[in-house]
Amino acid sequence: MTSVRTRFAPSPTGYLHLGGLRTALFTYLYARKHGGKFILRIEDTDQEREVPGAVQLIYDSLRAAGLEYDEGPDVGGDYGPYIQTQRKDTYLPYAMQLVESGHAYPCFCTREELEERRAAAAARGETFKYDKHCLGIPRQEALRRMQSGEPYVIRQNIPAEGIASFDDLLFGHIEAECSTLDDNVLIKQDGLPTYNFANVIDDHLMGITHVTRGTEYLSSAPKYNLLYEAFGWTPPVYIHLPVVMKDATRKLSKRYGDPSFEDLLSMGYLRDAIINFIALLGWSPGNDREFFSKEELIEAFDEKGLNKSPAIFNMDKLTWFNAEYIRRLSPEEYLELATPWFDRALGGRGIDYCRLAELMQGRTEVFNRVPDMVRFLAEMPGYENELYVNKKQKSTLESSLDALKFMLPVLEEVKPWQETALHDTVMQAIAEAGRKNGPVLWPLRIAISGQASTPGGAIEIAYLLGREETLARIRAAIERLTAALQTA
Ligand code: GLU
Repeated sequence: MTSVRTRFAPSPTGYLHLGGLRTALFTYLYARKHGGKFILRIEDTDQEREVPGAVQLIYDSLRAAGLEYDEGPDVGGDYGPYIQTQRKDTYLPYAMQLVESGHAYPCFCTREELEERRAAAAARGETFKYDKHCLGIPRQEALRRMQSGEPYVIRQNIPAEGIASFDDLLFGHIEAECSTLDDNVLIKQDGLPTYNFANVIDDHLMGITHVTRGTEYLSSAPKYNLLYEAFGWTPPVYIHLPVVMKDATRKLSKRYGDPSFEDLLSMGYLRDAIINFIALLGWSPGNDREFFSKEELIEAFDEKGLNKSPAIFNMDKLTWFNAEYIRRLSPEEYLELATPWFDRALGGRGIDYCRLAELMQGRTEVFNRVPDMVRFLAEMPGYENELYVNKKQKSTLESSLDALKFMLPVLEEVKPWQETALHDTVMQAIAEAGRKNGPVLWPLRIAISGQASTPGGAIEIAYLLGREETLARIRAAIERLTAALQTA
């Protein structure tokens, strides 16, 4: 039995979008599941679409995603080179072999001539299909013109009638009437192959046993199979994966501002959460289980769980996954990941990040939300006095002013400014004064944070703020409430 070889074959046209990442992941999982090899091939024969730096970005993204490839341009392997432009000379001899056998032919039609015929077809209300004009040129004459330096392309000679078909692991037996298929260009004027040709040649030469790619290639796969037949090669097993949609009407796309994998990472989504979430786009383990590490995915992955219908990318669901993954981090891991985000709002303030991290971990859904959640520690935000009024805590403007005046001298006496000392002193004072916690701690929290919802309560915030800042904020709040009640 030959061992499984799968490939991820991106074109270097920009960031790794999430549909691409999903394809890469399933390709990787399939190989790992079957103890096979996962190969990276760069498909850069459409040089006009190539974006500088995109190849490096593919390497970086796959590594960042944890999808290590066994063979590829920057890791080597026995079937290289793995960049199609570096294989440039590989393709023409194969195309010529097809010309010899009549499965392909050179075409000398100029762009202008083709445009004219396309326009004429459009005027008749037909979609243009190459009319096999150059198929009529006698072989010897065609070869002579090729050798004389006249520009040409090589086209696939699709039979005028009959059926082209292939079998897909997910979509079953797919057929197309040959009469509906176009004589695609296999070799372009610049000598480079088109995707339509290169994918077949390279998948064969690289010993690829399973081709996994998006359903956008379902309709051209019958043509590729005709090429395999023409060469007498065994076609690979095909698995066409359903597209990833933003919603019922459109594909996920960077053009509409949908995030790429890199975007998600820089927003503070965790790699493992993204991978876990992406794995469930178009695949299900067959039960309710939602959480999988990469190793568990390899274990559980089964092509029977693939779904034919388009998968919807739900950002809220991803965020939910991310929050769960953040909750499962160890405190040390959380602290390390959160520190740069704390720095954005609090850098240089001397705040106890360790304690802040403990208070924030359970409240963090995505790291890029962290700076806004902790900024109040650096700077007292503006707020409405209405915040002091809270029925449940039995707090009014008057009771708040009274509580803050009561708290100020108590806090002035706390030494050292540590959380337990703060806690014990404040609680004892409240108890001794025969007061209730709510009407004291609620206004204290508002006075020193300016917000109703905070990581930790009044005591924790006071501790994080430090003595001077806490007392200054309370004094300011007393002034402000006194003024408000005088004018009322
Ligand atoms: N280069 C193609 C793309 O980026 C890959 C298709 C395939 O995997 O065959 O869409």
